Order: sequence, then C-alpha cells, then structure tokens
Amino acid sequence: MDRDKILLTPGPLTTTLRTKLAMLRDWGSWDSDFNDVTARVRRSLLRIIHGEDTHVVVPLQGSGTFSVEAAVATLVPRDGHVLVLDNGAYCKRAAKLTTLMGRTCTVMGFDEASQVSPAALADKLAADKTITHVVLIHCETGAGVWNPLQEVADVCAQHGKGLIVDAMSSFAALPIDARETRFDALIAASGKCLEGVPGMGFVFIRKAVLDACAGRSQSLAMDLHDQYVYMEKTGQWRFTPPTHVVVALAEAIAQFEAEGGQPARLARYTQNYQTLIHGMSRLGFIPFLDPAIQAPIIVTFNAPGDARYDFKTFYASARQRGFILYPGKLTQVETFRVGCIGAIGPNEMEQAVAAVALALEDMGIASGEPAI
Ligand SMILES: *Cc1c(COP(=O)(O)O)cnc(C)c1O
Repeated sequence: MDRDKILLTPGPLTTTLRTKLAMLRDWGSWDSDFNDVTARVRRSLLRIIHGEDTHVVVPLQGSGTFSVEAAVATLVPRDGHVLVLDNGAYCKRAAKLTTLMGRTCTVMGFDEASQVSPAALADKLAADKTITHVVLIHCETGAGVWNPLQEVADVCAQHGKGLIVDAMSSFAALPIDARETRFDALIAASGKCLEGVPGMGFVFIRKAVLDACAGRSQSLAMDLHDQYVYMEKTGQWRFTPPTHVVVALAEAIAQFEAEGGQPARLARYTQNYQTLIHGMSRLGFIPFLDPAIQAPIIVTFNAPGDARYDFKTFYASARQRGFILYPGKLTQVETFRVGCIGAIGPNEMEQAVAAVALALEDMGIASGEPAI
C-alpha cells in the first residue's frame, strides 16, 4: 500500500505531512526570505535551551556526525587533550573523529549497560592536568542510556575544563537548560527529536569561549567559527545551504512550539516508551537496560532465546506490516532496538507491538523471552 512505513529508529524519523509539504518549494540561498527562515530557526533553537544570554547557535550542513566533528575541531586547540566518557557506540565514534583530527584523545571506558560516572571523572581530572576538554554523549543511542549531564557539567566546571555534549538524540526531548548547566558546546541535528528531516546539524557554543575558537579548525568546511562570523555578517550560510531541510525544520519547530515545547515532547515520548515496554513485556521481551537509567528515546531489547529467532526474518516480518525496527549495536549480547521518537504516539506504539507479535508468530516463536 502507498503509505510510508513508521520509522522506529533513531533517525531519520517519521515526520508530519505539514513538515514534508514545507519542502515543496525552491528557495534562493541569497534571498532575504530564506535568510529570514535561517534567522528564525536560530532564534528558536536558542530559546529551547534558554541560551539567549550565554550561547550562540551555529548551523552546519550534513548529518549529525559532521557537527560533532566540527565542534571538536572548532573548540579544541590543536594541542588540546580530549577525554571521552565512553559507554557506547556513539562515544567511540566521537573518540575516533577526535583522534583522526590529530587531537590527543583519552578514552575512559564504562559498561554499556551503565551511566558514565561523574565521580570517576572527577578523579581522572584531578590525576591528569593535561586534559582540556571532556566529551559526553547525553543519550547514548547505542543502548539508550540517559547519562548524567548536570553532574558531569558540574565536575567540568569545578575543574575548569571545557565540556562538549553530543545531545543529538536528546535535544528538544530531555530537559537541557543553559542557565543551569555549563557547557562549551552542545550538538544536535534537524532529523531527531525536533522531528525535522535529516541534513543539518547545529552547535550551541558558549559566548565566553567563542573568540578563542578562531583558527583552531584544520578544516575549512567544518569551521564553525568561520560559519558563525559569516552568518552574523551576511545572514547567509557560507556554502550552499540545505534549503529544503531548513524550511522543513522551521515548520517542525512551529509544531514543536504549538505542542508545548520540550516538556510536551518528553511527555509524548514517555507515553510512547511506556506503551512499548508494557506491550513488549506482555510478549515476554525483556529490556536490556535498568529502567532507572533508560531514556525514553530508544529501547534495546534482548533478542528472544528461541533458536528459531533470526533478526533479518524478524525485521522483514515487522516491515511487511509497516514498521521499521533497528538492529542492536551492542558488542556482547544479541539485541534489537525500537525507537520511541518521531511524529508518532501511543497508537502507533500499540500497532508496533501487534506487528512484533505477528512477527514472532511467523517465526513460530511462542515468547520473546531471552535465553539466560
Ligand atoms: C544520531 C546520532 C548522531 C549522529 O549520527 P548521524 O548518522 O551522523 O546523523 C550522533 N550522536 C548520537 C548520540 C546520535 O544519536
């Protein structure tokens, strides 16, 4: 049937018709109409974190990782030393890009089923004075862990270290308040919890560190300071902007504001999460994480223990019923993931659970209960 499948993934996400329709026009990148949209989007983004007084926001073309890479390149001096708090796949990606850009990088490993530890961070910063910046992934999308942003930010502030936060899968859903939480940079993107389409990221940079960032980036296209200065001067993007993505994001933000902003979005995703968890537990599935550290963004489930289980078959079966699941990203155990984000509500989550039940039936599996 000619209906889009529901994306239960960490992005791209299911978007509203209104957001999709916003893309049916052509815009000139020099034109004042388009520059007005860019300016409006930037103002709205700053309001979401209450950062008008303390931060600027710099958009960048590309997927979310482009903006993480740009933030590290722009913020960290070439002789800087980055400590990555690692409890999952996106942390490892941040460490890899930091190393590739020639910055000294130390990885502090934690279990992928637990939060990173602010106390261990404090000990590390006391022991190694050469560290200049800390990288934290707010919601580790690999397993779905909600990391303790406020506590990590407090430790970094006490030690005078710069904090770079990848808030890609949490921004606009989990609370982030720049008036209370001190960070030098925070990164998110158009195609995640704002429910726009993918194609641009944006980085909040603390005004107090902005000037010092000039000339640090070894990349022309990824230099956020340069992008910022040019945008402030001309109202334009330095290089061809993703015009359709920007106007879709403006439309998505209007709907986000009408829904009630971040608290309303968190409430809807929490409802989605609870509907999913209850439905899946009826089928015997067990979530991988302790609910105390689970963000209502994406849920990792242990794979069924039944020998007839096969992810490819499971995926194809759910897909045929209109739902796109996501593979697991853990190294030790077999899992799969189900996203709770996007322009969907509890009805879609109920239907997703029904599709999963039928997929089990297709494979001849009586219960989602894992082996152990
Ligand atoms: C989605 C995501 C990214 C960016 O991934 P892209 O594929 O580059 O868009 C980065 N970090 C986290 C935590 C994410 O969830």
